[in-house]
Amino acid sequence: MAIYIDAPKCIGCKACIPACPYGAIDMVDDKAVFNENCTSCGACADACPTGAIVLEMEGKGEVDTSEYSGLWVVGEIIHENRMAMVTAELIGEGRKLADELGTDVSVVLMGHEIGHLAERAAGYGADRVYLVDHPTLLRYRTQPFTNVLTGLINKHKPEIVLIGATSMGRDLASRVAARIKAGLTADCTELTINPETKLLEQTRPAFGGNVMATILCEFTRPQMATVRPKVMKPLEYEEGREAEVIEVPVSIEEKSIATKILDVIADDTANKVNLTEADIIVSGGRGLGDPKHFALIEELAQAIGGAVGASRATVDAGWIPATHQVGQTGKTVHPKLYIACGISGAVQHLAGMSSSDCIVAINKDPDAPIFGVAHYGIVGDLFEVIPAMIAAIKQRRGE
Ligand SMILES: Cc1cc2nc3c(=O)[nH]c(=O)nc-3n(C[C@H](O)[C@H](O)[C@H](O)COP(=O)(O)OP(=O)(O)OC[C@H]3O[C@@H](n4cnc5c(N)ncnc54)[C@H](O)[C@@H]3O)c2cc1C
Repeated sequence: MAIYIDAPKCIGCKACIPACPYGAIDMVDDKAVFNENCTSCGACADACPTGAIVLEMEGKGEVDTSEYSGLWVVGEIIHENRMAMVTAELIGEGRKLADELGTDVSVVLMGHEIGHLAERAAGYGADRVYLVDHPTLLRYRTQPFTNVLTGLINKHKPEIVLIGATSMGRDLASRVAARIKAGLTADCTELTINPETKLLEQTRPAFGGNVMATILCEFTRPQMATVRPKVMKPLEYEEGREAEVIEVPVSIEEKSIATKILDVIADDTANKVNLTEADIIVSGGRGLGDPKHFALIEELAQAIGGAVGASRATVDAGWIPATHQVGQTGKTVHPKLYIACGISGAVQHLAGMSSSDCIVAINKDPDAPIFGVAHYGIVGDLFEVIPAMIAAIKQRRGE
């Protein structure tokens, strides 16, 4: 971005001076000039009544946006060649956005021996599937996936590209966006189409979750966004729904890829945690007082067939691995039942769990913010409440 003052147009009105947040404008001979504090933020350009302050944006006018059409979802394939649920969620959301734009939804599937997944993508609402099947794509690696996706985008010019904000998606989306010089908004929680401009409005938490920022990529294409698992809802699966399947031939030489996968070792903790897929989550917070008290959370989780979650305070304290963290910088979850034990309910925690179907909070402070989102609140000492719950569950089971 570059900014300059077109001196003949400056009338010396000084309207730009209060608009500048950095004190970066001086008046010299009744003309505005920038000093060294200027960050090119462009706030003064909006305030100038004569258009004397010119903000030149990189990319503006360089891309013919009319050449781009269609909405794409980049599919994610997980172990045993299954389609990740986040892909179905993005197809569902993409369907709504595409219908508003009067366009179609395409899904890009990259992997090996994945032909059967085209049907899954269609059933969840895709109109077209680009199937890229090659042995080198068996497991995610940055280099070949970036090359393939960049090539496809450059060739077909989609208007919007949605990718899951998973480990794979975050890596791939940022690489591809940088490669094609497109804007990318990470971790969106809401996507809408502006009815007038038809631009994708990409909303995400900013400033520690205290404000929601809506971001537009006006001048570059495609408009790219990542969305965390469980934020959007998939459409109901429609058996027998058909999509056009385009098999994309690729020629990738293994020796051209810098990274090699030597072995795949199952992460037992990750499987045990599996928070984003869990129907029931029991989470512990700083109210546990000591890492060893997570045993109580595990016992309750086990009794009701749930996974163990945690607040960031406990993760930061080293009481439990980060894979358990729920919240803005942890996992976004949407279980049928979420039990928060000794968790105050900071906005950053709520950002990851407030859309759970049923929230039960146990906290000894009746004013704890968690009670603001809880469907059932138990004001009490978790060391009394949780053992009583476990005992009641066992009694019902006749144990
Ligand atoms: C940029 C940023 C990102 C963040 N991301 C996340 C995130 O992803 N996830 C997250 O969780 N936090 C996140 N945080 C931190 C967040 O702001 C809070 O600090 C954190 O959630 C607090 O954790 P807590 O509720 O366990 O602890 P506390 O706030 O200390 O709450 C402990 C609660 O336990 C209760 N309690 C104490 N003893 C008992 C007892 N015996 N029985 C019952 N109740 C008891 C207390 O009344 C209190 O309400 C983030 C912060 C920032 C700035």
